[in-house]
Amino acid sequence: MSASPRAAINRFDPLAGRYARLTARDRKCDVMRNDPGVTMGGTALVAVGARRSRRVVILGGGIGGLAAAVALRQRGFEVHVFERASTIAEVGAGLQVGPNAVKVLYALGLKEALHRSAFEPTNMVSIKWDDASLRHRVPLKAIASKQYGAPYMTAHRAHIQAMLHEALPDGVITLDASCVGADTRGQIAVARFADGREVEGDVVVGADGIRSAIRAQHFGADRPRFTEMMCWRCMVPIEHMPTKFGLNGSVELARGEYFGWLGPNGHVICYPIGKGDMLNLFCRHVTDQWVAGWNEALLGIFRHVEHVFKWGIHDRDPMPEWRRGRVTLLGDAAHPTMPTLAQGGNMAIEDGYVLARNLARHGDDIETGLRAYVAERQPRTARVTLQSRQQFANNRKVPPPPFLDRTWIFTFDATREEDVRQMA
Ligand SMILES: Cc1cc2nc3c(=O)[nH]c(=O)nc-3n(C[C@H](O)[C@H](O)[C@H](O)COP(=O)(O)OP(=O)(O)OC[C@H]3O[C@@H](n4cnc5c(N)ncnc54)[C@H](O)[C@@H]3O)c2cc1C
Repeated sequence: MSASPRAAINRFDPLAGRYARLTARDRKCDVMRNDPGVTMGGTALVAVGARRSRRVVILGGGIGGLAAAVALRQRGFEVHVFERASTIAEVGAGLQVGPNAVKVLYALGLKEALHRSAFEPTNMVSIKWDDASLRHRVPLKAIASKQYGAPYMTAHRAHIQAMLHEALPDGVITLDASCVGADTRGQIAVARFADGREVEGDVVVGADGIRSAIRAQHFGADRPRFTEMMCWRCMVPIEHMPTKFGLNGSVELARGEYFGWLGPNGHVICYPIGKGDMLNLFCRHVTDQWVAGWNEALLGIFRHVEHVFKWGIHDRDPMPEWRRGRVTLLGDAAHPTMPTLAQGGNMAIEDGYVLARNLARHGDDIETGLRAYVAERQPRTARVTLQSRQQFANNRKVPPPPFLDRTWIFTFDATREEDVRQMA
């Protein structure tokens, strides 16, 4: 009788002389057991034996870390992801996947998986916060592919995370691994963990989010700036979405539309996710006390909410440099971005692709590859970060100016060399 996968994970392997000391709660997360080049030595985990293909150690299994892992593996790198949480999971909230990130996911071979996991809203509708009058309605599904080169999609975060996770083979991810630092030692990069272990690779990538330990170590331990914006994220079944509101029901909404309510100091974005069967609500406001006076149709949706996730929104100024020796940053660790343009995760996905391309292009010259990665990504992500901040300021004006143009963000294709050259 063959052992179950879970039993196999926890079994001591006498041939390899090691034991899965980390709690391997997920069959995919068993790097120590599967990797013949990595063994346990006392409290330290050290690489042994002949050097094989170039190894990239990624710290953080969020959207950025996982997208980078998929992209690097596609280019032939050996990749290990270390995540401090006990599971690879995302909160119950939505994620807007702009055409720029969709192009990258297609290039990673995830087109079918993405279309299974994500929804394509038909129109973007803007509604006034109090009387629910229509501000404007613009087509999205009909124009996005023609105008931007790929669809604009919305998804449950957990589905995107699962899609990336599924694209990785067993053994790539180690859970319960909290990194405390990373250093360059001669020709190798070494990640250090809270329990004293060390893991080495040719490159270490800090994809450990806005409070990145790697960023703090190499670029200073300043705290992210609180923007005064709070946000609440929740979901309701789509049948609770009103289809008529405004004066005498004059505004009609169809299922499948993306709609936003814009009011003083806050707004509420609603979009379908899954197969269009759930409505994701993303509510941002600069104070805690804010529902009074908002349109009854919106408050009616809120009454069906069961679970709410509350966030404080923070950001940081763009950094000119994200690399020290063979250690680099990616995603929110490098460039946390306010969610006003819904691009932070999209930028992290682009980062992973560009990192893989540059490391592959420069072969053994790792540091040149990392320099090229930062040179390519820093200007674009800084511009997105600053425009997100400007959009936040605009949203607070009464009346709000037209939404800032995002065409330059959406049309960009990180997988095309011409677009990359234009950025330079
Ligand atoms: C309210 C809100 C709405 C948003 N909406 C959108 C949107 O619609 N579209 C979009 O593109 N972006 C959106 N964003 C931004 C997006 O969520 C982030 O930009 C994205 O999650 C960044 O991904 P990441 O992988 O860099 O970081 P994270 O998602 O933060 O992942 C970091 C990972 O590293 C792990 N980790 C942390 N420290 C350690 C450590 N020391 N050792 C090991 N592991 C560690 C964490 O557990 C986590 O799994 C939104 C953000 C917010 C707050």
